[in-house]
Amino acid sequence: MRFITSLIFVFSLISNAQNNYPQDYFCNPLEIPIVLAGTFAELRTNHFHSGMDIKTQFRTGLRVKASANGYISRIKISHYGYGKALYITHPNGYTTVYGHLLKFSPEIEAFVKKHQHEKESYEVELFPNAESLPVLKDSLIAYSGNTGGSGGPHLHFEIRDKEERPMNPMLFGIDTKDTTIPIIKSIYAYPIDNNSFINKSNSKRKLTLAPLGNGDYTTENIEAIGNIGFGVETIDRQDLAPNSNGVYNIQSFVNGNENFELDFKRFSFAETRYINRLIDYQTYIESNKRIQKLFKINNPLSIIKPIVNNGVLQIKDSTHVVYKIRVSDFKNNSAWVTIHITGKADSTLIAESPKTTPYFINKNQTTNLKEGRVSVDFYKDTFYEDFYIDFEVKNDILKLDEDARATKKNFTITFDMSHYSDEDQSKLYIVRLVGRNKYPSYTSTKRKGHLLIGSTNKLGLYTIATDTVKPTIKASNFKNEQWISDYKYLKLKIDDVGSGISNYRATVNGKWILMEYDYKTKTLTHDFSDGVVTDTKNNLKVIVTDNVGNNSTFEALFYRK
Ligand SMILES: [Zn+2]
Repeated sequence: MRFITSLIFVFSLISNAQNNYPQDYFCNPLEIPIVLAGTFAELRTNHFHSGMDIKTQFRTGLRVKASANGYISRIKISHYGYGKALYITHPNGYTTVYGHLLKFSPEIEAFVKKHQHEKESYEVELFPNAESLPVLKDSLIAYSGNTGGSGGPHLHFEIRDKEERPMNPMLFGIDTKDTTIPIIKSIYAYPIDNNSFINKSNSKRKLTLAPLGNGDYTTENIEAIGNIGFGVETIDRQDLAPNSNGVYNIQSFVNGNENFELDFKRFSFAETRYINRLIDYQTYIESNKRIQKLFKINNPLSIIKPIVNNGVLQIKDSTHVVYKIRVSDFKNNSAWVTIHITGKADSTLIAESPKTTPYFINKNQTTNLKEGRVSVDFYKDTFYEDFYIDFEVKNDILKLDEDARATKKNFTITFDMSHYSDEDQSKLYIVRLVGRNKYPSYTSTKRKGHLLIGSTNKLGLYTIATDTVKPTIKASNFKNEQWISDYKYLKLKIDDVGSGISNYRATVNGKWILMEYDYKTKTLTHDFSDGVVTDTKNNLKVIVTDNVGNNSTFEALFYRK
């Protein structure tokens, strides 16, 4: 009896050590079972996913409930990002976040609309105090939607700790069924420096994966010498949906000893951009595959636990190494990869000399590059490493290295426009030429005298473009001089070729009306239940402005009673 009691005691110690987070404090914010379209810390563009994406049965308008007692501490409405979002601060210090909402509960909706009308803006950010909007666990706070940068109806749900660091909600028991083993999609081997070789080559090598049938894999044997590392492309699926989601933990072992670990429990927003350092960024830009490197060079990411030599293997002549990778999901379903490495020195292998250009970047210093009418300013800490940058200016086209090199922050590009007439200058903006088709994409541009100053975090090709075309505005669910007494909404389509839409403003009989802009469907929507449109004869006026200041005005009459 005593033996069993102490065993139970030992087991409870172990499970407590693994999880110190309250288990019944937070509840499922939806009234349907949790099925995930996205998991915590899943790899996304320039960031790790900071919450879980809960599927809403391909619908919007599902009831969203407070996950625990607390108060609404922040409300943010934005065209992009989380769209309509609510933040609840809880008495235990955690915050929960609910994103891409369709609309809020009536009480919160009234609070928000009051501020939107005061500010005459759809986009607002509010920080109500603890007394304004208290909420009880399980009470209605909103309806699920698809607003902001959402690719389909779902609820984005986050739990943040006291320091605003997002945490894996599964640690708190917000969970889904998962007996499915993670899938390994590819394995790469990397020579770390110019004196290291894999199969006599100094370039990275994609290994051939051979599934063993039980969810585990092996690869071809490799020969190597010097410092090498490995990378893995992997996804996880849960049981209830076919979505490709992120994994929970990746470990590597050298001859049975752990030497590296990625642990997706928590991260901070300050470090989320270092994802570009974790993944093989060049492969990502070239082929859209996210290979997670199982070695660390200049990367402060807290999810990385470099156990031995930052995960780098030092392969010596005439040795044999068994390297294993273990990929696990939250439920500890694991897939293993085994790689055999033979150390083999070869006197014919010649160290490759690094590429040089006349332009050296010291990552700790500011650098100005200037040629003709174009000038580029990199600030301290723009890059992760020192390197020789490719820099060339021809006919107002700037070639700035390749976009496969990751940056830590924005830098500026300045074009001198003094050779254009004043009128032409006012229509110019900076574009990045994207992809094989060199599609011109607007880059955030400011004007200062004859200078155009662009702010960007991407290397690549840049030039200037002209936008003389005004935005378009079309009524989408009504006609001029129409009676629309029984309409719930007024809808218009707005669009702009070239620099894109910067802002819009709508009035009825001179009074500002709230219109929601959804950039994905290019739609402006007014909800008549706002109660602002009360006259019978209504003169609607909508002004839309693009990013260089071209604007269009749309006017129409409609009647209601
Ligand atoms: Zn999300």
